[in-house]
Amino acid sequence: MSRQPDQAEFEEPGGILRVAVDAPLAETFDYLAPSGLSRESLRPGLRLLVPFGRGRRVGILIEIRDQSDQDPARLKRVEAVLDPRPLLTPADLDLLLWAAAYYHQPIGEVLFSALPARLRSPEPLLDEQRPGLQATPEGLALDLEQLKRAHKQRDLLTLLREAPEGLALTELAARLGDCRGPIRALRDGGLIGDCRIAPLVDPAAMAATSASPGPDPNPEQRQAIESVSAALGGFRAFLLDGVTGSGKTEVYIQLIATVIARGGQALVVVPEIGLTPQLRERFRQRLPGPMAVLHSALGAGERERNWHSAARGEARLVLGTRSAMFAPLPRLGLVVVDEEHDPSLKQQEGFRYSARDLAVRRAQLAGCPVVLGSATPSLETLNNARTGRYTWLRLTRRAGRAEPPLIALLDIRDQPLQAGLSPVLREHMRAEIAAGNQILLFLNRRGYAPLLTCHACGWVGDCPHCDARLTLHLGQRRLWCHHCGWSRALPTRCPECQSHDLRMLGRGTERLEEDLKPLFPSASIARVDRDSTRRKGELARLFEAVRQGEIQILLGTQMLAKGHDFPGVTLVGILELDQSLHASDFRAAERTAQLIVQVAGRAGRAERPGRVVLQTRHPEHPLLQSLLRDGYAGFATAALAEREEAELPPYAYLALVRAEAPGEGDALAFLREALGLGESIGEPRIQLLGPVPAPMERRAGRYRAQLLVQCAERPRLQRFLSRWTLAIRGLPRRGGLRWSLDVDPQDML
Ligand code: ADP
Ligand code: ZN
Ligand code: ZN
Repeated sequence: MSRQPDQAEFEEPGGILRVAVDAPLAETFDYLAPSGLSRESLRPGLRLLVPFGRGRRVGILIEIRDQSDQDPARLKRVEAVLDPRPLLTPADLDLLLWAAAYYHQPIGEVLFSALPARLRSPEPLLDEQRPGLQATPEGLALDLEQLKRAHKQRDLLTLLREAPEGLALTELAARLGDCRGPIRALRDGGLIGDCRIAPLVDPAAMAATSASPGPDPNPEQRQAIESVSAALGGFRAFLLDGVTGSGKTEVYIQLIATVIARGGQALVVVPEIGLTPQLRERFRQRLPGPMAVLHSALGAGERERNWHSAARGEARLVLGTRSAMFAPLPRLGLVVVDEEHDPSLKQQEGFRYSARDLAVRRAQLAGCPVVLGSATPSLETLNNARTGRYTWLRLTRRAGRAEPPLIALLDIRDQPLQAGLSPVLREHMRAEIAAGNQILLFLNRRGYAPLLTCHACGWVGDCPHCDARLTLHLGQRRLWCHHCGWSRALPTRCPECQSHDLRMLGRGTERLEEDLKPLFPSASIARVDRDSTRRKGELARLFEAVRQGEIQILLGTQMLAKGHDFPGVTLVGILELDQSLHASDFRAAERTAQLIVQVAGRAGRAERPGRVVLQTRHPEHPLLQSLLRDGYAGFATAALAEREEAELPPYAYLALVRAEAPGEGDALAFLREALGLGESIGEPRIQLLGPVPAPMERRAGRYRAQLLVQCAERPRLQRFLSRWTLAIRGLPRRGGLRWSLDVDPQDML
């Protein structure tokens, strides 16, 4: 709409500024530009300090408009512009605005979750920058002949024209000597302007000056590389479906090298960086140019430095966990999501986004390819590949000479178990140890025992705050709740009847380690779980010991299933997955199959073939059968057919509203009202299922309930959710009730 000149109150030279304020509010707010600032100096992505309520808040400028929908007489003025340059590019902003809309999250919270935490307060950027000079558009366009009688000015301008980012004053002085006079002349002529020069990157983050060459790609890898390379410069989504050890990472590296060579930036998101120190090293050795690592375990300062290095376009590769998906990248040329099936790519609290799904959207907005890689792709992504929305690239063979492992089911019903190991598995283990090989045992339960009970009266150690059992950690002599973190000292007698006959039932990794020692007295045994690797560097130390052959038996939780090479491991034993076969969550089968295939993939990576033994009491289970018979692809086909039948993702779209409150029944009551609101919207073909108590109803002292929304059409679901969440926000909330919306929920807990 054009401006209406007769309305004096709209005569606002700076324009109306639409601002997202750092507050849990869905709407944005309009402000007047600060007086004395030209409209040109304001750009979306800048942080502003604005009056808000009775105080002030930091906000982000989203848009400059001519008119406001709000009463212009009541608009307040921005107090200050906090940054010298926008923190987010227009494409970054678009992604975040899209995400806020798609996940129905408060826009300010989404925007600020993408920035280093410190920038939520009105603090300046870490100013490690140096003053410098830059050629202006006039300076760039000038015919240098015009300066032929001012040699020093011409030399200066020539230098600056070759450095579009500008040059530091110190550097100019080093190259040209004192040039204060020419600088003044050129500046007065509008040919050059002041700017800030980015600091030198942390030398530790620099890659080797000459990137070392990698292996020649095999034909499948070459085809994948060529296919993605041909798509550079435009959007296209790829599934890189490659068995463990097939050389997916090698494909990423070669693609990233191409992007870097063309002056672009690449973004690689992985589920958990702490578990894959090798990956970082590999990138660093093989790729030229600085790399920025972004994950939550970094100190705030380092994180912010790396973030700036990405934002300035300096870091050529950004490697990070899911939140790195929001790192500003002005020259983004490729997005890679490794282990795209991994549930930890989904944020499970607050702003519940899927980094994988955002990766695709981000690539679309940036106009670049996105590669989703996995040995066990999620059913959603597989479906996108099957329907042709994503280009399906396959790596079917292991790179190098390694053979794929053989998986065998071991029926343990009626078997005399020792340390939870069947005689056959024990026999295999002895043979491998005798042959000097290594063994990996997978048990997805940490602690000593999952249950402590009194044999006299039947007392069991429950968490007082959750509907959950306490796990016994014998090393610490404590009982821990793995759900809320509550703990107590290990009782020596029953708290109910004072009996001394307390028994530990079941087996976690801590107990497995203890039980293995007498069975394999000559073997050295190492345990990898969250308890044993709490100390910084401990995980890397353990993995190094395994690689050096100092460990014969490596046992642990799913930390072992992720991304590690254990070339000397020739036998993998998977103990007790039966529970997850029967879990109620509709994704349980998919998760279990992925876990089995991922763990199996750790074996026999070098020239030695691997063997995988899966102990079960349900050898006839159709999931296990299809997995063994037809591999992951066969399993996925069967599982997709089931999902289609049941109208579950990827054939329908889900959203889950969760509520929790300290008072019993409050969450359910709230969701019943929400249900009523939802029904009254009257959107057809929307199914509202529930509300029901959450699978673990009480957790950390709060009662939880949930209400599921299902719809076969995504736009319809989105339309419904917009109206519905608005209505739910208006509901009265009793006694500390909290609720949240999870779009595309990954688990139903
Ligand atoms: P993935 O990411 O699929 O697990 P990697 O890229 O880590 O696979 O490759 C597995 C192993 O095979 C690594 O040690 C890697 O160096 C090696 N490798 C990858 N591609 C080739 C190739 N074309 N020729 C020889 N070795 C390769
Ligand atoms: Zn008792
Ligand atoms: Zn608890």
